[in-house]
Order: sequence, then structure tokens, then C-alpha cells
Amino acid sequence: MTNIKTAMVGTPCQILAATKINRYEEETGGSPIDVKIGLFCMENFSYSYLEKYLKEQGIELYEVKEFRIDKGQFIAYLIDGNIFKIPIAETEPFTRKNCHICTDYTSDVSDISVGSVGSDENHSTVIVRSMKGKEILDDCVEKGYLTVEPLSKKGQNLLELIANKKISKNTKTYKKREAVARPVLSKRSISEEEFIEECKLCQFENLQNDVISVGSCVLCGACEYVCPIDAIQINRRKPVLKGKCQEDCHACYFACPRTFVSDDIYPADIDEKPLGNYLELYTVRADSIIGQDGGVVSSILVYLLENGIVDKVSIVGEDKDAPWRPQSYLTSSIQDVIAAAGTKYSTTTIGFKALEK
Ligand SMILES: Cc1cc2nc3c(=O)[nH]c(=O)nc-3n(C[C@H](O)[C@H](O)[C@H](O)COP(=O)(O)OP(=O)(O)OC[C@H]3O[C@@H](n4cnc5c(N)ncnc54)[C@H](O)[C@@H]3O)c2cc1C
Ligand code: SF4
Ligand code: SF4
Ligand code: SF4
Repeated sequence: MTNIKTAMVGTPCQILAATKINRYEEETGGSPIDVKIGLFCMENFSYSYLEKYLKEQGIELYEVKEFRIDKGQFIAYLIDGNIFKIPIAETEPFTRKNCHICTDYTSDVSDISVGSVGSDENHSTVIVRSMKGKEILDDCVEKGYLTVEPLSKKGQNLLELIANKKISKNTKTYKKREAVARPVLSKRSISEEEFIEECKLCQFENLQNDVISVGSCVLCGACEYVCPIDAIQINRRKPVLKGKCQEDCHACYFACPRTFVSDDIYPADIDEKPLGNYLELYTVRADSIIGQDGGVVSSILVYLLENGIVDKVSIVGEDKDAPWRPQSYLTSSIQDVIAAAGTKYSTTTIGFKALEK
């Protein structure tokens, strides 16, 4: 394992995968991820469904420069300057189906979680969850990277309301799904001991049956990253096994955020706490970087690199040939971090692929 320290930015499911990889290091080989910055996330979009949907509206994906969500609207900015928008409530046809069984809105197991809901324009809402996260945020403020104020009660109420909406809507969906199909494993309460026992019985075939073929895969790429013999490839946006599993290996099953999650990671009562467990809540803006909201994520990454706290950061930028397509990569360049600011609203086999082992 490399000793290059890395900070990762990701959606709640991606941050959960990073947490599992590091916690079960003996099985997975671990990762260089040292700081986890989670984004709030209501849903993400499938670009094959999005492509089909836009085609029906007379738009080709290659004509799109950027997608944004703003004031309840899903907006496509086209290269020719035109804008296509629809209310977020109508994005159902191209929302990724696995997002409907996900109840983590604010990235419950990150060091620091960041989103827009609850804060004014050009500000981000920040949830500090770990002592490591607190030290980073305090030092960012002291060194002038960020300006923070406590989140208003109104902002907190709105954030809790939206997080609770995701929890109740998606709990209904996964319970409905469980009534007619296989159990949604990630939502089962399971002790640490049972988790380890269960995972030690499983290999890729089980991952295929329990996650991939039932439409629960979030395409995070964690399974591909941890496989010691590089037998997993993400092919046509699905993990597939090339060859045979190594005897006694269970790494992909341990790492996947959609297999079991032990109560030590997500306590059994986590869905009763809309914002999960946390230390502090703020509204924050960056002092010099323009981002999606407050530019906070990019500023924290710049701080981490400039102060030698991590060596690299894993970010999501744009594919040069297809700007609408997100591309994750690892960098130590401040210019890259600033250029990657802004949200890319479609899935990417995030970060793990870019990480060094
Ligand atoms: C799929 C998705 C859904 C979201 N849904 C919500 C929501 O419902 N409510 C809410 O309040 N906030 C949501 N956010 C978060 C919000 O859009 C901003 O990312 C967040 O407020 C941080 O803004 P910022 O200005 O501080 O970040 P910036 O300084 O702009 O930095 C953004 C960082 O996010 C990374 N990034 C961009 N796209 C992705 C991606 N697809 N996957 C992983 N990392 C990425 C970039 O590498 C960059 O480092 C969502 C983000 C994503 C990616
Ligand atoms: S599964 Fe979907 S809704 Fe849940 S965190 Fe991942 S991208 Fe967001
Ligand atoms: S060898 Fe098999 S069980 Fe082990 S990580 Fe690779 S695919 Fe999974
Ligand atoms: S099957 Fe692989 S890519 Fe899909 S969610 Fe699990 S770890 Fe991520």
C-alpha cells in the first residue's frame, strides 16, 4: 500500500465505500484515503436514461455543456447557448434506480459533509462529524481560507426536513421492493461480528446476485479497486468478473456500500437522525474560490494540499471531449482543484479507479 495520503470528495455512497475499505483493511488491502469530504445527495442520474430522455426532447448529449440543479429545476446548458430545464420532480425517468433505496442524504460517515440546502446563495452548509474534520475546518478559518457562521435555525430545519423526506420516501421504496424481491442488504441491521462472518462466506458471485443483478449497484468502483488480482472490470457501466476469484478472497463483498453495513458504521437508529451524528453545523463561504455553492469543498482541498496535510486529492472534473461527462482523477495541482469546482450531475466510477494502491 502506498503511503501517499489522499483526500476524497464523494457522494454518501462513495464515502461509505471508502469507510468500509479502510475499516476492513485486512480483507480489502485498505486505501490511501485519509480525509473524506462527503456531498449532500438526493439522487444522481444515469446518462443512458438521460441520453434517451433528452433525445426525446430533440437534444443530443454531445450538445450539452453542463448540467445544474438550481431552485428546484434540472437545467441543461447547451453548447449553442440554449437552455433546457424541467422541474426536479420530473427527473424520475433518468434518476438512477439504486438512488431510490438510499437514505443517506448528508454523508453520515464523512469527516466533513458539504451541501447547499440550508444556506444562502454563494454559501455552503457544512456538517463537521469527526475530530479530524473539526481540526481541518478550524485551521481553514484561522488561515483565512474560509469564513464560517453557525447555521441558522431556519437553515437547519430546512435541511432536516429535506433529509427526512429522502429517508421516508426511500424507506417506503426499499420496503416495497423487499416485499416482492430480494432483501436490500445495506438496510439490514447487522452486528460487526455477524457482518464479518457473513462477508467471509461471499465472493464476486454473491456481489453479482445481491447487488449488481438486483439494480443496487451505485457504480462507485470500490470492488474494482480492492480486487487483488484485478479480476473486476466496469464494463458497460456494470462490474463484471474476468476469470476466476482468488481462493479465500472476499474483498469486493467487504468493500461494497450495497452489501451489509455493520451497526458500528451506520448505527441501527441512523434513519431516526436526519443529519446523522455530528459535532458542529455551519454556513460557510470560501474567501477566494468560486464553486458550485460556497466554493468550500475546493477551498478545503486547496488548504489540505498547500499545508501538506495530504499529498493528493481525488476530484471529479470534466472529460475534455464530452464536457457533460464527469471524470474522476487524482491530482496534487491547485489549478486542477480550482478547475474541477462545481457539481457534475451524473455518475462516475469515482475516485477509486484513480487511487494508487
Ligand atoms: C450527484 C450530486 C447530487 C447532489 N445533490 C445535492 C442535494 O440534493 N442537496 C444539496 O444541498 N447539495 C447537493 N449536492 C452538493 C452540491 O451540489 C455541492 O457539491 C456542494 O454544495 C459543495 O459546493 P461547493 O461550492 O462547496 O463545492 P465546489 O468548490 O464547487 O467543489 C465541488 C467538488 O465536488 C466534486 N464533484 C463534482 N461532481 C461530483 C460527482 N458527480 N461525484 C463526486 N464528486 C463530485 C468536484 O471534484 C469538486 O471537488 C450534490 C452533489 C452531487 C455530486
Ligand atoms: S446512491 Fe444515489 S442518492 Fe445515494 S448517495 Fe449514491 S448517488 Fe446519492
Ligand atoms: S478475487 Fe473475487 S472475491 Fe476477491 S475481490 Fe476479486 S472478484 Fe472479489
Ligand atoms: S458492486 Fe462494485 S461498483 Fe457496484 S456498488 Fe458495489 S462496490 Fe460499487
